[in-house]
Amino acid sequence: MTDTAKTVVIHETGGPEVLKLENWPVGDPGPGEVRIRHQACGLNFIDVYLRTGLYPVDLPSPMGMEAAGVIEAVGEGVTHLKPGDRAAYASARPGAYSQARVLPAAQVCPLPDGIDFETGAAMMLKGLTVEYLFDRTTPIKPGDTVLFHAAAGGVGLIACQWARSEGITLIGTAGTDEKCALALEHGAAHCINYRKENFVEKVRELTGGKGVAVVMDSVGKDTFEGSLDSLKPLGMMISFGNASGPVPPFSLATLAQKGSLKITRPTLFTHIADQDACQAMARRLFDKVLSGDIRIRIDQRFPLEQVADAHRALEARKTTGSTILLP
Ligand code: NDP
Repeated sequence: MTDTAKTVVIHETGGPEVLKLENWPVGDPGPGEVRIRHQACGLNFIDVYLRTGLYPVDLPSPMGMEAAGVIEAVGEGVTHLKPGDRAAYASARPGAYSQARVLPAAQVCPLPDGIDFETGAAMMLKGLTVEYLFDRTTPIKPGDTVLFHAAAGGVGLIACQWARSEGITLIGTAGTDEKCALALEHGAAHCINYRKENFVEKVRELTGGKGVAVVMDSVGKDTFEGSLDSLKPLGMMISFGNASGPVPPFSLATLAQKGSLKITRPTLFTHIADQDACQAMARRLFDKVLSGDIRIRIDQRFPLEQVADAHRALEARKTTGSTILLP
């Protein structure tokens, strides 16, 4: 039985220096919970929002929402997992930056044999997000064109490959020419370096003046207005992140003026709250990875002790693909 495990904890919000590696209580799983020993943990931009206080969290709080490892114990009522099973998860409850933890079992998924732990840790939160963006947010059919910002990031490279596998034309944006090359290699039909070119004009040019059916925008403040201007009439704006800062309040009338646009602001955690839905989404994602349609690219690995450096790299736009922490 594990009493404590090395865990990254914050006692206050702030810069990367508030991330502290401590011994944190683990305990036994209660009803509907599992205890898992991590082999690898995923780094996500949402971890930055929690650390800085953009998304409120009760303090002190362990950090991290995604990991993979081996189930050590299961609580009463858990039937889809047993001790010794390999598993991976994305969870709304932080605590994944750790050697071991207890968490609700509903979001913990059996990891297929063909997927290793590092890949599992690098793909759950990001890949399930791509699943709901393409499958559960607005109808998108083969031949439709989607604009996807930060296309060379963790979520981005999975989105590029997902779109290619579904016959959807993805126009990506990224902050350097090298990142654009990476997005193209992973299935983006076009990629705009939005630090050099006006992406709104470029999207118009690429779509024969029409605009795109859907924008998936996780950059937020810096791209929001341009994203709306890249849509065709009746188009759908999916605003799902704030890497450059939160979107300022805007007038609903803007949507009418710009062509009866639609807008939604979804989060993964609503989509995976139900166990059956979460497990079904994970199976769809695993199938894409096992078939080779999607290859999870891990471009950065950090020991758990260097978690602050991992955050610095992510915030400085220095990472591509997924980043994992090794406990
Ligand atoms: P990424 O690996 O995509 O990293 C974020 C990227 O955003 C950067 O690499 C950078 O790419 C781009 N960016 C643009 N402007 C800035 C800025 N001012 N500061 C920092 N980065 C900037 O992260 P993730 O894959 O972890 O997540 C991608 C996005 O998706 C995040 O915004 C995240 O919050 C969101 N998300 C939302 C979910 C939801 O359900 N709502 C779930 C999962 C993720 P470049 O240099 O190419 O511009």
